[in-house]
Amino acid sequence: MYLDHTSAVPVDERVVGFASRYLIHDFGNPSSLHSVGLEAKRGLEDARGKVKELINAESPATIIFTGSATESNNLAIRGTALRNKKAGTKVVSSAIEHISVLNPMKELQKRGYTYDVVPVSAEGFVDIDVLAETVTRDTVVTSINYANDEIGTIERIREISRIVHENGQYLHVNATAAAGRIPVDVQKDGIDLLTLSSNDMYGPRGAAALYVREGVKVQTLLPGGGQERGLRSGTENIFAIAGMGEAAAIAGQEMASEGPRLRKIADAYLREILTIEDAHLTGPPAGRLPGHLSFRFDRIEGESILLNLDTAFGIQVTTGSACSSRTLEPSHVLLAIGLKHEEAHGSMIMMPGRSNTLEEIPYVVDAVRKTVERLRLITAM
Ligand code: PMP
Repeated sequence: MYLDHTSAVPVDERVVGFASRYLIHDFGNPSSLHSVGLEAKRGLEDARGKVKELINAESPATIIFTGSATESNNLAIRGTALRNKKAGTKVVSSAIEHISVLNPMKELQKRGYTYDVVPVSAEGFVDIDVLAETVTRDTVVTSINYANDEIGTIERIREISRIVHENGQYLHVNATAAAGRIPVDVQKDGIDLLTLSSNDMYGPRGAAALYVREGVKVQTLLPGGGQERGLRSGTENIFAIAGMGEAAAIAGQEMASEGPRLRKIADAYLREILTIEDAHLTGPPAGRLPGHLSFRFDRIEGESILLNLDTAFGIQVTTGSACSSRTLEPSHVLLAIGLKHEEAHGSMIMMPGRSNTLEEIPYVVDAVRKTVERLRLITAM
């Protein structure tokens, strides 16, 4: 019973059905002038159009395909900061950004940029007043996540955009957790650069995109053959990109029905799990990603919950960002919302997806209850 759709998502069979021709028949290099190359080029541009539609970008040319969300975040942050150095050498992010945003920021700091971090509330909302004080005319890039994958908070991006543009320059938004799950509209939201990832939308890994608003100047981090408007050289991963396009189209069509279905499942889980002694929700009760559930349990280690649920009950959840699970440090997101170290250690994130149903809830809740009771018993001994 897979409930870890923040860490990895299976590829939708419809996506595999659509994109597999780009592995076998239309496998050409989109830069080749012959018919096999042209067919691949058509697939590439079709995908660009579908991603453009999902986020309501002004034109397909604003969509740059990359290899991962990490790469898109690096291109957005380092590429924009380096290219616009004359306009300013300040960068800003919130305290709860993904590590693939925080580390490029720190990299710039090592090169002499000033990096300021804006705090968030106990529910994970960016502190708008501090943001307004922190972003100044020489702030070239401000990076804020559309939604947080650890605590589910959907940020008030339109208000953030207004403040960033009143005071500073470009707004980059990491929409990896949000795109395909909730409506994202780069024009109405006022976003200059936006990261979205294929796998989080039930597409294959190995593809992601960066939206770059027309007129925003970005320096490439991968010089080479000049693909993707010179911003991301390298022969395009046409299978993964075509899959990402189809995944974006399906997510766009199904969001209006899938979102409420997932919310219903999450509401039912929430009611049940909060009846477990000393169980708490992390992140906001409302204004969350559809389906996203994050808890913490007093007197318990998240890793033990994860392992016990997996081995004893066949249920997969996570305890934080999969990307930082190799360290035993508590999550920087949970510390930033004000939890103490010992509180942050007892976290559990559950994210149902397309394959999950309401019928699974009693089994899972019973397993979580038994796991928590068992682990507390061991701790007390
Ligand atoms: N941003 C967020 C919110 C993520 O959850 C992840 C990981 N899925 C990334 C960025 C980086 O994605 P990737 O590891 O695929 O580059």
